[in-house]
Amino acid sequence: MKQFIALMALMALAACGGGATTPSSGIIAEKRAPVRGPGRCGVDPAWTVREVAGVRLSQPATIRIETARALERWLVNTAIPAVGRRGGGLTELKVVAHYSCRTRNSRPGARLSEHARGNAIDISAFVMADGSRVTVLDGWRSGDSTLLRKLHSGACGPFGTVLGPNADRHHQDHFHFDVANHRGGPYCR
Ligand SMILES: [Zn+2]
Repeated sequence: MKQFIALMALMALAACGGGATTPSSGIIAEKRAPVRGPGRCGVDPAWTVREVAGVRLSQPATIRIETARALERWLVNTAIPAVGRRGGGLTELKVVAHYSCRTRNSRPGARLSEHARGNAIDISAFVMADGSRVTVLDGWRSGDSTLLRKLHSGACGPFGTVLGPNADRHHQDHFHFDVANHRGGPYCR
């Protein structure tokens, strides 16, 4: 049922957007060819997302539109206000991973990563209008820790999984956000 509703919403978007080039006013993206395989990897429908809520992605991200919408909610409700006027305001997210056909933490035999379904995006730094940046690696345990912890906790809700430096050694230098649905509510570490 949920999938059906999502499909209907997408069809409605395609209908009103003509070529479905702008899935919402805050998301600049193009629909791209579906990613099919190998194996259970894939993104269909797939979008190439370049900018969300006026904030550029450092590289175009191949994700599902639901992932882009979660990013938009987090940017509008948390990230943009949390950064405020610092450095002239938030202008870019340094994206270090989006679609990738791999297992969790790339471990052989582990479960398929949400990255392999277009459900996830990894962000390592926040770039301001004046070129200054806050990185997860340097900022988490330093002067920028208040801001970074705010960005991390505000993602919990829009995203179903939020991982950062407190999660494990694989997440020392970036935040992992994905739209997986967990039974007990969002999983955020
Ligand atoms: Zn990740």
